[in-house]
Amino acid sequence: MADKYIKNFVGGVFIQADSAEYIDNYNPATGKVYSFIPDSDETDVERAVQAAERAFPEWSSCGVQKRYKILTRIADIIEQNLDEYAKAESMDSGKPLSVAQKIDIPRAVSNFQFFATAILHFSSESHHMEGQAINYTLRQPIGVVGCISPWNLPLYLFSWKIAPALASGNCVVAKPSEITPMTAYLLGKACQEAGLPDGVLNIIHGYGKRAGQAIVEHPRIKAISFTGGTNTGKHLARTAAPMFKKLSLELGGKNPNIIFADCDFDEMMSTTMRSSFANNGQICLCGSRVYVERPLYEKFKNELVKRTRLLKVGDPFAEITDLGAVVSKPHFEKIQERIELAREEGGKVLCGGEVVELKGNLSGGYYLKPTVIEGLPPQCRTNQEEIFGPVVTITPFDTEEEAIRLANSTNYGLSATVWTKDIRRANRLGERLQAGIVWVNCWLLRDLRTPFGGVKNSGVGREGGLEALRFFTEPKNICIKY
Ligand code: NAD
Repeated sequence: MADKYIKNFVGGVFIQADSAEYIDNYNPATGKVYSFIPDSDETDVERAVQAAERAFPEWSSCGVQKRYKILTRIADIIEQNLDEYAKAESMDSGKPLSVAQKIDIPRAVSNFQFFATAILHFSSESHHMEGQAINYTLRQPIGVVGCISPWNLPLYLFSWKIAPALASGNCVVAKPSEITPMTAYLLGKACQEAGLPDGVLNIIHGYGKRAGQAIVEHPRIKAISFTGGTNTGKHLARTAAPMFKKLSLELGGKNPNIIFADCDFDEMMSTTMRSSFANNGQICLCGSRVYVERPLYEKFKNELVKRTRLLKVGDPFAEITDLGAVVSKPHFEKIQERIELAREEGGKVLCGGEVVELKGNLSGGYYLKPTVIEGLPPQCRTNQEEIFGPVVTITPFDTEEEAIRLANSTNYGLSATVWTKDIRRANRLGERLQAGIVWVNCWLLRDLRTPFGGVKNSGVGREGGLEALRFFTEPKNICIKY
């Protein structure tokens, strides 16, 4: 099992924070502290930036083949140790071990593989001015960049930023969430083993307000790729904008799941169970507002409630578990408050809405029954604000126009899902839904080449495929006169 005292990874070595202080790291399945995280501050970030600056000239000019080989090796090492990584992820986040084994860690492997090869195919434009000149665009790495990620998909999202940043020749100062630091710590070990040159990736642990803030404020970190809450994103933008940093912000969501009566019912039901409750609803893409065409509403409601009641909440390490613990005590309490608020707003809790009490070692864990609520108006807080837990609201609609209006009625715009067999209707909704990603008759079907990100309060910029490589490089036009 992983070490009890996590260390920062700076200049290729593991060191404690300058403060020598540690933060408690909880296992949400038991509610007990099981390891400790360095409480880093601006001194640690400065050390990391200096290590990154030393590494940059060599890494940015070593050629894509070398970067491809090292990133592929990192992917291989994670894959070879998949069980160790999955156990660490499950213990840190409370998610079922099976989910970490099948989704989180394999995706981290794919992220490194994908960007290792993507950089081999990355090209830039040229613009010919007939008889006069040729312009070509050089895409150069930015220098030292910052990557800050959240707790819900820890290594999955951490590597989703780090891999393209490294592939395109940058050196990185990265901070995982203080709530789920363990697989980021293991990643440092994989980088050492893979022969990543010292200082190319530096991993700083600690609180957002101290270590994270120091990364955002650092004058020599030129770009920040951030995934997290919308309020944190606003704060980051206020700090980074006057320093003219390049920013990519992947923020919260309150995604609509729009179900028309002509859909394939069985497929829609099984996918809707996932889009509602996968990872305890703690995925920014979960469809937490479910809108159902009225003729199908009662049938859908009964089936959703029946299936939700059958979901097994329990020990993340048990094979039969569907939903493990939610990530932390404050989050556990917040979700309960939000269910209470839904009741106050006039919502009817059709199932769930309660804490699950487990026995023995798990008695202090943070377990909640998955919850379905109906009868809430579109503008109430429950239907407007992100809960990020195993809670969905269901609402009937009568017309396509009404469905679009309801779907677009929040300040968020990350993703939307549409269930219909009518391809023309799917296209119409695809065009009019205010979202960065629209899934038709599917959910979370991801092709890593596609642009990923949100509109409105769900973020600025796109990750994924060439978008990420473009974000992590600076275009320079060179005009040569004939
Ligand atoms: P958060 O904003 O609290 O924290 C995210 C990261 O930012 C953490 O590493 C944290 O330590 C750091 N941070 C906090 N304050 C900071 C500061 N002042 N300066 C720099 N860094 C700081 O978010 P969270 O609770 O960890 O994650 C949940 C949120 O993330 C949800 O809103 C969810 O929708 C969102 N999310 C979005 C996407 C997406 O792709 N759009 C993906 C996953 C999660």
